[in-house]
Amino acid sequence: MKNENILKTEQPIKVSWEKIQTEMKAKFGKDIYDSWLRKISFEEEFNNYVLLSVTTRFIRDWITSRYLDQILSIVRSYKSEISRIELSVNEEKNYNEIEKKDYKKNDSSAINVSFIKDYVSNFNRIDPNKSFENFVTGTSNRLAFEASKKVSCKTSHYNPLYIYGGVGMGKTHLLNAIGLKLKEESKVMLISAEKFMYQFVKSIKSNEMVKFKDNFRNADVFLIDDIQFMNGKEAMQEEFFHTFNALLDKGSQIIISGDRPPNKLARIQERIKSRFSGGLVIDIQPPDYELRYKIIKSKTDELKNYYSNQVNISEEIQLFLSKEIKNSIRELVGALNRIVSFSRIYNKIPNISETKIVLKDLLNYNENKVTVELIQSLVCKHFKISKNEMLSSRRSRYLVRPRQTAIYLTKLLTSKSLPEIGRDFSNRDHTTVIHSIKTIETLKKDNTDLCSSIDTLKNQILYNNQNNEI
Ligand code: ADP
Ligand code: MG
Repeated sequence: MKNENILKTEQPIKVSWEKIQTEMKAKFGKDIYDSWLRKISFEEEFNNYVLLSVTTRFIRDWITSRYLDQILSIVRSYKSEISRIELSVNEEKNYNEIEKKDYKKNDSSAINVSFIKDYVSNFNRIDPNKSFENFVTGTSNRLAFEASKKVSCKTSHYNPLYIYGGVGMGKTHLLNAIGLKLKEESKVMLISAEKFMYQFVKSIKSNEMVKFKDNFRNADVFLIDDIQFMNGKEAMQEEFFHTFNALLDKGSQIIISGDRPPNKLARIQERIKSRFSGGLVIDIQPPDYELRYKIIKSKTDELKNYYSNQVNISEEIQLFLSKEIKNSIRELVGALNRIVSFSRIYNKIPNISETKIVLKDLLNYNENKVTVELIQSLVCKHFKISKNEMLSSRRSRYLVRPRQTAIYLTKLLTSKSLPEIGRDFSNRDHTTVIHSIKTIETLKKDNTDLCSSIDTLKNQILYNNQNNEI
């Protein structure tokens, strides 16, 4: 294993993709691999992230909630700069066709078709599902919403419009909604700063700089997302600055999003920052309870629609999610998607304790309170062994199984990494931890006694946790 790691070179992920797939198969087992992971396609690699795709929203949500972190660690073992994976739903075929037609209709210049196709499929991925209609407003995002609407009705003189806020607050959604609204009547260019840089470099290499310039400077509406990732070299910033000025000069509307206000952007030239501040700068704040609840309601309806009414999430769960998932709207929507995936896979509506398990990594209090000590002491009590015995190095059968169960439950109910768990069990190696988890997973398949022991323990742990009894 070690040697293999050393031999891994930092090649493009595309080159290593087959190997990564083989590793996923080894890590998750053939069943999981065949049911879920085989269907992942590699799309593209950007500066520090990889874009993968699957065929349906359901598969995406399932993979995201269960396997994405581990997939990321495999990918990172091939290329350490990669810091995240984006998983998109590739309904692309028909989608691209439509986009291509739109583009042609609007564009009479002589840019060659393959170049247009490249641009359209790489950049202008305007998502038809992120519109003004399904953007829910509250105190924290109303101003940004109103300003975006004004821009999209061309009744504003806010130019550029700069929207900033934390991760998952709805910035991309708003930019997308503006693009969607205007794409019929104007030449819209929606691109993330990362993709802009990537395309810039690619155009230089392939001698297509003129086309690059023409393309961006042709836009009537230029939407640039996640500007904080713009960290290009001088030449690129230069190009960006000129594009920006050329667009403003010809009266094109520019909309920018970022995770911080313009003056706090690092690595961006002062003159660009000052251009960003020249129009309207608006922030989106974290959602309050009222907005979170409204969003849950609206997304539940959307999902019901999508799955032809076969979604049934109780009011109790909806309130629970609105109350507990506070950090971002992305997490809130992600949590709801997970619950829906759960209910579709197990064909039942999860109760609160199941919800807590499914969402364990999003619920901070769970993370804080389910401790290894709690798990160990309840498992010891259940199997009638002492804690010293559990933590000893003895390998008697009556000790091994409880130990493996405790390790398995620690992985399931806390967010500890494998080496951390190893340390909590008398400095065992992380391979022992993996072995324990795998053993329990295999045994659970046809050992109903073990299954029910584990269920009982799980409930005890969560119950104790909830009531602070230990
Ligand atoms: P950001 O770009 O700020 O990180 P996104 O726009 O990607 O956030 O939003 C994350 C998720 O939350 C998306 O699925 C988006 O559709 C959804 N979302 C964000 N804000 C709202 C809102 N006000 N109403 C409905 N959905 C929202
Ligand atoms: Mg975004």
